[in-house]
Amino acid sequence: MAGDADVIVVGGGLAGLVAATEIADAGKRVIVVDQEGEQSLGGQAFWSFGGLFLVDSLEQRRLGIKDSYDLALQDWLGSAGFDRDEDLWPRRWAEAYVAFAAGEKREWLRAMGHRIFPVVGWAERGGYDAMGHGNSVPRFHVTWGTGPGIVEPWPPDLPVPPQSRCADDHQRHRRRRQRVDPRAR
Ligand SMILES: Cc1cc2nc3c(=O)[nH]c(=O)nc-3n(C[C@H](O)[C@H](O)[C@H](O)COP(=O)(O)OP(=O)(O)OC[C@H]3O[C@@H](n4cnc5c(N)ncnc54)[C@H](O)[C@@H]3O)c2cc1C
Repeated sequence: MAGDADVIVVGGGLAGLVAATEIADAGKRVIVVDQEGEQSLGGQAFWSFGGLFLVDSLEQRRLGIKDSYDLALQDWLGSAGFDRDEDLWPRRWAEAYVAFAAGEKREWLRAMGHRIFPVVGWAERGGYDAMGHGNSVPRFHVTWGTGPGIVEPWPPDLPVPPQSRCADDHQRHRRRRQRVDPRAR
């Protein structure tokens, strides 16, 4: 049936679009529904500055910024102050996200067509040293094209990027089948 899907993602913001891409790349049929029209695809990300948290990136190394998974995790834990039993999963999530930011995140985005402005900023600097809260080194990687550049891999006429398959999107009850080009991978 045309409307069949393995997964329905509610919300076509960046989180929903990334989830839909991963699901489609895993070979599952996914539908994205959003309360807004297609002009709002990407949610807040379109309006954002497009600053991304990356750790020990090529851009940082070019600028002589010494960063590492351990330092970034220490900064994160310094800000979060996890000290309760119920902080177990937030802590695990932080460890996983820092590992992602120090690992495949940059290349995953690059494969989607995402590009980074070559100057790394120092947002959320916080406590000024490695033991305090905030980023002890610059980690704010600005997307080339800022917010619109973040959502560019998901243009309205191709809701899920070329490498993904089997995905449809539903905006204001409108449904379109995704064009698929397996050679685009
Ligand atoms: C001005 C601005 C600048 C920012 N700058 C940065 C930055 O530089 N760096 C950074 O990391 N972050 C920044 N942010 C924050 C970042 O953009 C957001 O955290 C991120 O985009 C949120 O993505 P999301 O998918 O979780 O949520 P959203 O973008 O809010 O997407 C949620 C989607 O769900 C839809 N929705 C909600 N409820 C329903 C429902 N019941 N049924 C159907 N659809 C529904 C909404 O219409 C929306 O499309 C900025 C945000 C703003 C506003």
